[in-house]
Amino acid sequence: AKEVVPEKPVKATTAPTYRITNPDRVIDTDSGITKGELAAFYETVAPIMLPVLGHRPVSLVRCPQGRAKHCFFQKHDAGSFGEHVHHVPIKEKDGSTEDYLWLDDAEGILDCVQMGTIEFHGWGARIDDLEAPDRMIFDLDPDEGLDFEAVRKAAFDISATLSDLGLVSFPMLSGGKGVHVVVPLTPQAKWPAVKDFTHRFAVALETQEPERYVANMAKAKRVGRIFVDYLRNQRGSTAVLPYVARARAGVPVSAPISWEELRTIDKPSHFSIRDADELLARASSPDLQGWGVAAQILPDF
Ligand code: ATP
Ligand code: MN
Ligand code: MN
Repeated sequence: AKEVVPEKPVKATTAPTYRITNPDRVIDTDSGITKGELAAFYETVAPIMLPVLGHRPVSLVRCPQGRAKHCFFQKHDAGSFGEHVHHVPIKEKDGSTEDYLWLDDAEGILDCVQMGTIEFHGWGARIDDLEAPDRMIFDLDPDEGLDFEAVRKAAFDISATLSDLGLVSFPMLSGGKGVHVVVPLTPQAKWPAVKDFTHRFAVALETQEPERYVANMAKAKRVGRIFVDYLRNQRGSTAVLPYVARARAGVPVSAPISWEELRTIDKPSHFSIRDADELLARASSPDLQGWGVAAQILPDF
């Protein structure tokens, strides 16, 4: 059933169009950050989130009692989110069809926050072309002992190799432990081809430098290395989207950065929701102009 997208309401200038109950509820005891602060953060960054978050299936990390209590990963529609949270039916591997969520405005984001959402994760494809990804992601997952310098170097090296293949890539701090190297694609190649490309790319890294990289997700093989998580690039997988508050201590934020900034930024959790205004201002700075945008297709590899 195709849903009719409702027209945007005219946003009131005096009061928000969304409602947040229990705004004083602390969602992170480490920082004292509240649900109300989280909502204010998302209201500020919604305009810079939407170019990437909009019109793609999203999964939510919901923590109705705060991040230290029970959190769950929600992929499918629960039916109770309101008119700004849209549905798209997607055929699953087993042949069944499930309704996924997608958003296209700040009200939708805030309605999810009202329902206890902290994190937003997205498919690598848009709802108008679900089978052809519009981005590829190399999610660099370092072993616990590794310092950020190793991750930084890996991101630069991967970007250089991609560049040799004719692909422009962009770095994003995950807000957690690693960096995502994001490769925009003109939707054309389908999921199996994109997954195969990223898998072979990760295996090639491991083959060339087994002391630095591992292409297998098993933690035991990761010791002292970086897992090049290519598995974000399969149909149905998600990755954390830009400007997402992470359900981790201090509520750090995933953040697009420039390659130049990656040279000096200290850690993947450099920004937090308390940096909303800075993140908004940065997004229109020359450094970040055109972040994540490039018309390019999967090369031979
Ligand atoms: P870090 O830098 O700390 O690795 P990250 O966001 O990259 O942060 P990962 O563990 O590498 O975290 O990514 C796992 C990805 O798998 C998440 O980005 C998310 O989209 C997805 N994911 C997380 N939890 C679930 C879940 N319960 N079920 C399915 N997918 C999940
Ligand atoms: Mn990761
Ligand atoms: Mn990962």
